[in-house]
Amino acid sequence: MKLDDCKRLLSKNSVCIFLLHGVVKGSDYVFRNFNRKHILESEFNFFIESLCELGTPVSTDNLIEFSNGRRVPDGAFVITFDDGFENNLSVAAPILKKHNVPATFYLTTNFISNNLMSWVDRIDWAIEESAKRPTLEVDVPWHTKPLVLQSEISRLSFLNEIRNVVKHDMSINQHELADSIQEQLGFENTKSNHSELDAKLTWEGVRCLADCELFTIGGHTHNHPIMSFLSEAQLNFEIHHCLELLRAKVGIQTTHFAYPEGLSHCYNNQVISCLKEHRIKCCPTAEHGVNDFSIERDLFKLKRVFVE
Ligand SMILES: [Zn+2]
Repeated sequence: MKLDDCKRLLSKNSVCIFLLHGVVKGSDYVFRNFNRKHILESEFNFFIESLCELGTPVSTDNLIEFSNGRRVPDGAFVITFDDGFENNLSVAAPILKKHNVPATFYLTTNFISNNLMSWVDRIDWAIEESAKRPTLEVDVPWHTKPLVLQSEISRLSFLNEIRNVVKHDMSINQHELADSIQEQLGFENTKSNHSELDAKLTWEGVRCLADCELFTIGGHTHNHPIMSFLSEAQLNFEIHHCLELLRAKVGIQTTHFAYPEGLSHCYNNQVISCLKEHRIKCCPTAEHGVNDFSIERDLFKLKRVFVE
C-alpha cells in the first residue's frame, strides 16, 4: 500500500501492523527495488511522523496483552521489519528512536550469519547487472522455450512473474532457480553482497538493536523457506535452529515469529502447532488487512499492511 494511504487505516479498536523490509538513503536502480521493498529515509521519517500525529505506536508484546483483554488505544499501529537488512539498524532505527516508536525485527538467521541474499534478491541483482544488454535470454522451468527479454517492461514483468509462480509452486527449488538465472546471464553465483539493498545485519548489529528497549527481535526461520512446503523435520529445524541462534548469539528467548512470504498458503495448522511448541506466542502473516481486536484475535493469523 502506498505510504500516503497507510495513514487512513488507523482506527478505533483495531491495530494496523505495518510490514517493511528496508529503509535506504538512496535508490538509484533500473530494476532493483522496483517493488519498493526498501523505501527512502525521508519517506520513512515522514511516514513515522504522520503516524505518530494520528495514532498510537504499540509493540508486538502489546498485541499479546490486547488479545488478553487489555484496552487497545485509538489508532494503534505496529512497525515490523522482515528478513534482517543492515539498513534497519543504520537508517531506520535512528528515526524510530527519535520518535520513540517501538518496532519488531523478524530475522532470518542464516542471512545474518552469512550475509546471504534471498533467492529473489539474487535474481533482481542479476537482471540489474545486465541492464545495459539489449537482449537477455532466460530459460525457466515453467516455460517451454527461453524467454527473450528486451524492453524494460518485459524485464519487470518477468520479475513479477517469477515471484508469482515460485511462491505458489513447491516443486521449484528457489535457490537452484536463482543459481540457474545467474549462470544463464553469465555471472558466477553471487549469494552475498554489501550494497544497501543486500547487506544484512551482523550478529553485533542484532545485539545493538536488541539492547534498545523499544525494539523486539523475532524469528523468521533459518533459510527463509515457505514453511507450509516443508516436511515435519525441515519445519522443526527451520524454527528450532533460528530460535537457538537468537538465544546463543544475542541471549534472547523470543516469543515472536513471522512466516516467510506470509501468504495464506504459506502457513497451516501444522506450522502453527510447531511454532507453539517452540513457545512462540505471536506470528503475523503478510496477508493484507488491519486487525479488529474488538472481536477475538488469533495471534497466528494477524494481517499486515505492506508499506511501499
Ligand atoms: Zn521474509
